[in-house]
Amino acid sequence: MIRIEDIIEKVQENHPNADVDLIRRAYLFSALHHKGQTRASGEPYLVHPLAVADIIAEMRLDDISVSTGLLHDVVEDTLVDLDTIKKYFGEKITALVDGLTKIAHISNLPKEQQQAENVRKMVLAMITDVRVVIIKLADRLHNMRTMEFLKPEKRARISQETLDIYAPIAHRLGMGKLRSELEDLSFRNLHPQEYKRLSKVVEARRPELEAALERITDTIREKLNENGVPFVEIQSRVKRLYSLWKKIKKRKLAIEEVYDLIAARIITNNDKKNCYLTLSVIHDTWTPVPERFKDWIGSPRDNLYQALHTSVVGRGGQAFEVQIRTQEMHYVAEEGVAAHWRYKQSQLGNEDDSTIEELRKTVELLLLPLVETTEENQDSEDFIESLKLDLYPKDVYTFTPLGKVIELPRGATPIDFAYSIHSEVGDTCTGAKINGRIVPLRTKLQNGNVVEILTTPNSKPSRDWLGHVATSRARTRIRHFIAKQQRADSIEMGKRLLEKESRKFGVSAKKLLNDEKGFKKVANEYGLGRGEDLLASIGYGKTLPRNVLAKYLGPEKFKKLDPETRKDTRIGTGIKAVRKFMGLGDDSIVVKGVDNLLTTRARCCNPLRGEEIIGYISLGKGIVVHNKRCSNVKHLMVNKDRIVEVDWARNEDREVRSVILFVTTEDRTGMLAGITNAISDIKTNIRDAKARVSNRDEGLIEVTVEVHDKKHLDRVMNSIRKVPGVLEVERVHTTKSKK
Ligand code: MN
Repeated sequence: MIRIEDIIEKVQENHPNADVDLIRRAYLFSALHHKGQTRASGEPYLVHPLAVADIIAEMRLDDISVSTGLLHDVVEDTLVDLDTIKKYFGEKITALVDGLTKIAHISNLPKEQQQAENVRKMVLAMITDVRVVIIKLADRLHNMRTMEFLKPEKRARISQETLDIYAPIAHRLGMGKLRSELEDLSFRNLHPQEYKRLSKVVEARRPELEAALERITDTIREKLNENGVPFVEIQSRVKRLYSLWKKIKKRKLAIEEVYDLIAARIITNNDKKNCYLTLSVIHDTWTPVPERFKDWIGSPRDNLYQALHTSVVGRGGQAFEVQIRTQEMHYVAEEGVAAHWRYKQSQLGNEDDSTIEELRKTVELLLLPLVETTEENQDSEDFIESLKLDLYPKDVYTFTPLGKVIELPRGATPIDFAYSIHSEVGDTCTGAKINGRIVPLRTKLQNGNVVEILTTPNSKPSRDWLGHVATSRARTRIRHFIAKQQRADSIEMGKRLLEKESRKFGVSAKKLLNDEKGFKKVANEYGLGRGEDLLASIGYGKTLPRNVLAKYLGPEKFKKLDPETRKDTRIGTGIKAVRKFMGLGDDSIVVKGVDNLLTTRARCCNPLRGEEIIGYISLGKGIVVHNKRCSNVKHLMVNKDRIVEVDWARNEDREVRSVILFVTTEDRTGMLAGITNAISDIKTNIRDAKARVSNRDEGLIEVTVEVHDKKHLDRVMNSIRKVPGVLEVERVHTTKSKK
């Protein structure tokens, strides 16, 4: 078991002012609470946090990170809660432990809920401090190194997750060494057979490959010296099994066909020029393979990786790859952002929140492209492009109380969330809790929200919801529901209208509606399948109940019973209006004599509360309400049957309507300003205003105002009239575009 004092020593080497006491306390706390727990290997659990802390110390991270490493599983695996951590170790460590615990929750989801892409995005979305990721990677690395005691299925699952989620994150952070180890360990556990086969092939060739590598390094050293090009180190290696395997799979190659089974790496001093000098020596000595040269120094990769890569063919046709980079580049390539971070820290001498904040930003820039793309090696221009988009990620990642990840577009609300679980849940949703707290349904969801939907059986979607949803799934369902509801309402309305009409004829509506066969026959005459459809059609105002009766009774009987031939009767007179509305039509208008009827305001005259109005049963639109003075009403009067009396409902909400006014003025400057001032002086909104000059040299101003009712409009018109130069003010009842 690693000793805590060894870890402390390592930390002190890199951070002479480290809070050693903090690390010791974290160690004791962890030891105390993990006491009695064991790992799959049978060892005490404490081995794991110690090993993780050691990896973190190896990475030369700070005392806070190392302490967090010691505490990282305490909240997840013991009874200790975050408040306790806060009490003993302060805010910073608590925030880090909290981040790690949340990520652990994602990893613990059942497999079918683990959508690799989503989980990776989720992890990234939840990062508030880069140390959380680095510590998580250290945690994963130790778990991967000690998997032999787990069952094969569990090993495979963890390995797959490592390949899907953590290796790409390590890559993105530029932590090449860690990524390689994670990948090779995953490969071995995930595909033990293929790993064995491949390593057998490589092992069989190893003496030959190593001999080749030795010749190559000797030659490089010799040639560089000959040409006076300084270098620090020459490394050589047989390539990693996972990257070989990937290449073989991708290009469907046999192992023998893989170009560069071996590779050499030349590390120069920190003068970039020497990289290019080295390259020219290499290309002079061996034949470069065309198209295999990559200048990652001129245009660094998105994870800050810099190096020159080339493949050459040596004597006997042996191909190999050569990487050339400076010491600093090498450092960043092996350890990535962690190295970058330490470098910044050492420059500032001490831990500093602004440094961390700055680094967090860098990390965000590095990480975000990962959210959108799984392909590596995009060139830097693509990267800049994707960066612009990704700085404002389009999605939010939320959880169900059971931990399932629900991906939604940004701007989504609990309503979207409810519908994405199940349409039933959406339809009966009445409230929501986010992170345990009740919130309004219109609340916009944030990354990492745990959302619980409250439902009430028999409750129904509301039309207002359409303004608060971001997914088409929710929108479609709500519309569907409203349409269904509207049809049910129309059938009900149709029934009432028909009842009323039959009363006039002295016919029993009950009998009529019970005569399914006879009624269906009438429906068929209208080209409708069922009696219900005919009722809906009446309710929508598409079909007149009078005509339906005519068809049902037959011409003779109809004529005999028709009250029109006996006495003039108008719809609805004398019957007390029921002031109730369904929220389907214009709720500020009621139809006398009938309740629940669909009404809409005529576009041509846009009647305003307080104005005299009249209703007209229009085909397909229910009752259209016009201003009595609207020029269209004259034409409608031809069909007296369809005219119904309507009135303004007593409505508590002060509605606002847009009304267009036409103002004729003398042709002088400042008229428009004078008028708009007059309007705003009485606290009225102006939606639009246009001015022009007529051919009679008058000013014509069209202004759209928002008013509550006729009284309000009168006030607006009067104050405009008082503006000097105004000749006439007129409300526009019929727009010119409308015929
Ligand atoms: Mn752990």
